[in-house]
Amino acid sequence: MKQFECQYCCSKGICEHLLAAYDVIGREIIGGLLRNSNELKEMITLVFEHLTQIQIDRVEELLSDSLLDLWYDSYDAVEGSIYIHNLDPYLIAQLSELVISEVEDFESGPGTATTYELFYHDNPADMMSKLFRLVEIDLNYAKNSNV
Ligand SMILES: [Zn+2]
Repeated sequence: MKQFECQYCCSKGICEHLLAAYDVIGREIIGGLLRNSNELKEMITLVFEHLTQIQIDRVEELLSDSLLDLWYDSYDAVEGSIYIHNLDPYLIAQLSELVISEVEDFESGPGTATTYELFYHDNPADMMSKLFRLVEIDLNYAKNSNV
């Protein structure tokens, strides 16, 4: 059974080069720099709140496919409110545009395995700013739309 191993520093645990360790089945980032991305969450929440003022078919035109998935996961149509429960699948979709990942089964306890997708990079800070930029571009069209 495989273990995490960084190709840059040969660390067997979570190191500075790990952008995200993504639990594919649980759809959750369990480690790495992207784990607590509150800044991105706040940024997206603001834009989504703006979009609650807009007709739903217009929202569908304004959002990219991956943002639209996140929108439907976060929008309470009855209350007309936004709550982002799980940003991780969206972040991983964006990160996949930037970094080649490896998907492997890893031991998660005695006799059990979990599938993780791992994103390592030798310049994680640079990748984080590229990811922010990518999300900003993804949001831009919606942000500038008139209500
Ligand atoms: Zn490393």
